[in-house]
Amino acid sequence: MASTKIPNRIVLTEDQIPTQWYNIRADMPEDHDPYLHPGTLQPVGPDDLTPIFAEALCMQEGTPERYIDIPGPVLDYFKMYRPSPMVRAYSLEKALDTPARIYYKYEGNNTSGSHKLNTAVAQAYYNKAQGINRMTTETGAGQWGTALAMACAYFDMDLTVFMVKCSFMQKPYRKGVMETYGATVYASPSDLTDSGRAVLNAYPENSGSLGTAISEAVETATSTPNTRYGLGSVLNHVLLHQSIIGLEAKKQLDMVDEYPDYVIGCAGGGSNLGGLIAGYMQDRLTGKGNPYFIAVEPAACPTFTRGRFAYDFCDVGHVTPLAKMFTLGNSFTPASIHAGGLRYHGMSPMLCKLYNDGFLDEARAVYQREVFEAATLFAKHEAILPAPESAHAIRTAIDVALECKERGEAKTIMFGLTGNGTFDIGAYMQYHEGSMDDFAPSDEELEQGFATIPSLPGIQE
Ligand SMILES: *Cc1c(COP(=O)(O)O)cnc(C)c1O
Repeated sequence: MASTKIPNRIVLTEDQIPTQWYNIRADMPEDHDPYLHPGTLQPVGPDDLTPIFAEALCMQEGTPERYIDIPGPVLDYFKMYRPSPMVRAYSLEKALDTPARIYYKYEGNNTSGSHKLNTAVAQAYYNKAQGINRMTTETGAGQWGTALAMACAYFDMDLTVFMVKCSFMQKPYRKGVMETYGATVYASPSDLTDSGRAVLNAYPENSGSLGTAISEAVETATSTPNTRYGLGSVLNHVLLHQSIIGLEAKKQLDMVDEYPDYVIGCAGGGSNLGGLIAGYMQDRLTGKGNPYFIAVEPAACPTFTRGRFAYDFCDVGHVTPLAKMFTLGNSFTPASIHAGGLRYHGMSPMLCKLYNDGFLDEARAVYQREVFEAATLFAKHEAILPAPESAHAIRTAIDVALECKERGEAKTIMFGLTGNGTFDIGAYMQYHEGSMDDFAPSDEELEQGFATIPSLPGIQE
């Protein structure tokens, strides 16, 4: 530990922003299993993906390259809101009376409110560079749609967002922000696509799901000239772009001679966690360091802790490729917890491979009331109202700090604070009124989800 006092905020200058992304796959002893085409069940190649995603992103999805240059225009945008701060949580440490030193990397300091802007800017740039003039996407709670709306506005492209209908009704402010940036926002299911109309015909009152919204956005992208789709998590190119978080984090902790014993992040589709661990996972894979990595997920959507490691579809409509991942089954519908960004049935195939092979050390599932308890404690001591998703990492960082206190160990803990909770006040109000419930699926409910994992003769039974 450094002998002089470590500052509260460890701040980099803009010319210290990394100029290359780091690809964890380059250092993994074994790669994750390939994506499979939903029709042929053959491994997917770049040509299968180029009608959906920009070509450069398809290349990044499969690349074994270790480092990839960040394009100048993307770096220019990053400089408007990065480098993000690394903060020493002195006040929280004191409140917990722990000998542990706690640091957090804060990604909520932009209008989208989360880390999602990091990949949105890159995706919009590569689409624009290819001559694409319109993107489509889906959004649940609205963070991803907002991030992509900001990026498309900057690169002067149109954006169509299919927003899950219940969020569209409940979160009009999110829609308002996206429209301010020029995006067109439709409630999904809509009558604009075959997938949307099919759902509406069968269930006129359907309040929407991410699975349906994805199908609508992909269908619109592939059937409209000069249009491509953007996905905000799960895929390798998204984790690659998010490595900016972890590369900055390592620089910042190096500056104060700190090395984390624990690296902790929440996991929805896995993109912030994959980014946060990037620099330290490279150390781990190359034998240069041995931090302990923890993924935190909601008990209501326990993908790592109770899911199966199997090939499954990434969407409900089965239009996307199959990925080998921990999954609760493509039709699994988690309880409507407030951490909307952590309700995905699957998980990044790269992270799943790391978890299965023992490099990602542990996954923990936590309940939402203990999450909001941690969020409220954090807000009072650290001056930031955290997003419910981020508060999953806070909960576990606090638990680890309390374990350190019991054992009298002065360990170093670093966690990812992915976003702010400015749009989640309703959830905080429920917590304080005492009307928030805890959820975890029963074994029977999990079995219903597992039943929708396909059996693939010769590949998996
Ligand atoms: C979307 C989101 C997440 C979860 O997504 P990952 O891809 O798992 O990182 C976490 N925190 C916030 C604030 C989000 O908006």
